[in-house]
Amino acid sequence: NSRERLALVAELKDAIARGQLVVHYQPQVDLGTDTIRGVEALVRWQHPERGLIGPDSFVAIAEQTGVMRELTASVLEQALRQHRAWLDEGRELTMAVNVSATDFVDTGFLLRLRELLERWRTPPGTLRLEITESVLITEGSRVRSALDSLSGMGVHLSLDDFGTGYSPLSYLRELPVDEIKIDCSFVWAMMTDKDTAAIVAAIIALARRLGVEVIAEGIETPEQLELLRSFHCPVAQGYYFSRPLPAEGLEQWLDAGPVGGSPIVGRPTVTRQQHRSRTEIQ
Ligand code: C2E
Ligand code: MG
Ligand code: MG
Repeated sequence: NSRERLALVAELKDAIARGQLVVHYQPQVDLGTDTIRGVEALVRWQHPERGLIGPDSFVAIAEQTGVMRELTASVLEQALRQHRAWLDEGRELTMAVNVSATDFVDTGFLLRLRELLERWRTPPGTLRLEITESVLITEGSRVRSALDSLSGMGVHLSLDDFGTGYSPLSYLRELPVDEIKIDCSFVWAMMTDKDTAAIVAAIIALARRLGVEVIAEGIETPEQLELLRSFHCPVAQGYYFSRPLPAEGLEQWLDAGPVGGSPIVGRPTVTRQQHRSRTEIQ
């Protein structure tokens, strides 16, 4: 009810100010080399009583109640700081951060992003902002010019949840999109539905023709991975490789395995850290 909602909003604002938002990182795997290309930053709320809360319980509310600016600022700050630490350790990873529609209509967003890139000496091309179609259908011209500015800064743009909206193909033609992420619903359905498999194969081929990068999301099984490999899918992300992990967990995961070592496909899919984050979130 609305009383609970109001209380939650107040609590969330307070939580951001107290630094209770934490960021976990999920690897994105280059299927050509079986190495980690980069990570996606995913926010969680480390609640003092309720434990770790996933974004589905608070991101939409933050978006509707004007708390998104603070949420995005907190995630970007943590993600870029962590990214800088990894770059300094010689870990060459891209960093993907989810941004929302209100970030794009917020005139201060680009300015703050520019400051952050300078502060953390982030090579702009290693940052990917993941946007969904909801960003693109909000205030067309303003968003358009923000996307152009980002692209001018050299920041990469990734179209998240691709295939779930209305007319994504025209966006590919008109907007400076560097990458599309095939939504997990396609990856799950393609195993049993021939038409979905054909769509996934076609999206991958289309992206290649357009010179746009493509990632498949939500890979959970070796069978899904094999089918994607047969479609020449270049990059994949999902629980099969790793759950989103805290920074130290991700480092252990990286050091345990594939970069310069054995191929990912031969590794156990659930490590101790992954198991821990699974029980924490659900
Ligand atoms: P998304 O950006 O599409 O992120 C992918 C979601 O799928 C993540 O859920 C991830 O944990 C989950 N996932 C990854 N691989 C698998 C898999 O193999 N199987 C299944 N079942 N799920 C998988 P998460 O972390 O709960 O995030 C949910 C959504 O919340 C995100 O979807 C994104 O839209 C939003 N979100 C997360 N962090 C942020 C943030 O910092 N800012 C904003 N604005 N939105 C965020
Ligand atoms: Mg995303
Ligand atoms: Mg997605």
